[in-house]
Amino acid sequence: ACTAAAPLPVLGRDVRVPLVTGGEVTYAALDYAASAPALQRVWDDVAAYAPYYGSVHRGAGYLSQLSTDLFENSRKTVAEFLGCREADQVVFTRSTTDSLNLLAGVLPADTRVFVFETEHHASLLPWEQRSDLTVTYLDAPGTPQQAVDTLEKALATREPYGPALVCVTGASNVTGELWPVRELAAAAHAHGARIVLDAAQLAPHHPVDIADLDVDWVAFSGHKLYAPFGAGVLAGRADWLQAAEPYLAGGGASRTVARREDGGVAVEWHTTAARHEAGSPNVIGVYAIASACKALTEAGFDTLVARERELIAKVRAGLAEVPEVKVLSLFGDDADRVGVLSFVVEGWNSSHFAAALSAEYGIGVRDGLFCAHPLVRTLLGSDPQDPGACGAPEGRGTSLNAIRVSFGAGTPDEHVERFVRAVGEL
Ligand code: PMP
Repeated sequence: ACTAAAPLPVLGRDVRVPLVTGGEVTYAALDYAASAPALQRVWDDVAAYAPYYGSVHRGAGYLSQLSTDLFENSRKTVAEFLGCREADQVVFTRSTTDSLNLLAGVLPADTRVFVFETEHHASLLPWEQRSDLTVTYLDAPGTPQQAVDTLEKALATREPYGPALVCVTGASNVTGELWPVRELAAAAHAHGARIVLDAAQLAPHHPVDIADLDVDWVAFSGHKLYAPFGAGVLAGRADWLQAAEPYLAGGGASRTVARREDGGVAVEWHTTAARHEAGSPNVIGVYAIASACKALTEAGFDTLVARERELIAKVRAGLAEVPEVKVLSLFGDDADRVGVLSFVVEGWNSSHFAAALSAEYGIGVRDGLFCAHPLVRTLLGSDPQDPGACGAPEGRGTSLNAIRVSFGAGTPDEHVERFVRAVGEL
């Protein structure tokens, strides 16, 4: 059982890494926002299942039946975890990026898409892949209320007909700040638009309830939810999913295929989630997600959030002691956030700083632009029109980059304490 003071057991707690100064230290994984370590419980569940592995929906043997049951029961577990409505479908994908690209593919023709410039590229870019969609980019808001007002205004000025979609993140992968999802969903629906929640950073830290938030779809990745086995989720309304062509064409998505008289083939596609899951599915990845959902639910999000708040407070207090550190924020000091925080250090190149944290302290953080270039440019006040401002890929080795520290349910106090001490010393 987890108490407010105890991290959940994860893999990698005892990994030793060399220090440039000689000797070695246990690795402090403080890059959960990029990819979180597997929960021990997830690893145990996967290991217990692995000998029984079999094909899903493709075999008459006992292990195929067992694997098929496990796969479909995992779907139910994820639906429960997300508080899905009766008619919602849970589609298994590879990741959040995959889920949002899938959704972009099924939008009705000429859908208007509204997205804040502050989004992760996975939420920002898939809509550009279709030439018939019109994308409206919304300026970075200075407060959560301003986000709602900006969206309201944009939606109110659109033509009052035709399909529209709002795509918004629940928690920023750069600032960790929570976005007013419920209010944005209400604004979207009031103007006849639908909304998809990018919960890649939110789901590992907070309960996400589709019905309660009243969003139309939710996307998240297993590897950020302590289940790094290559699966992701798109859950939500079935109608657009089932009216569109399958994401991938192939076996599993097709119900019947027959030669036509004219020599071609006639295909009847499934109208379940299987429509978008052609090919043999990643049953291990999907089962791992279901296992993580259960583990987090059993630990209790109240407990997890309380513990994470303690860690966030420690990091914030530690960074506040160092005058050269500037924490990046859109919504200000009082913003509610998950355990994700980016900063720059005056006099330091961020890539060198992150490298020093690794080499001298065994701490793994991320540096760069975090696949959210427009947001980081805005936060750092660099010229948004200057594509050369990034220089190297992802801004590494230039002044236009930042350092991100992120943590979660598996993080021991010692890791954030070491981090705070290291920042002060550097
Ligand atoms: N959205 C957000 C907010 C993210 O942080 C990330 C991953 N950094 C993604 C989407 C994309 O997730 P994935 O790389 O698993 O597709």
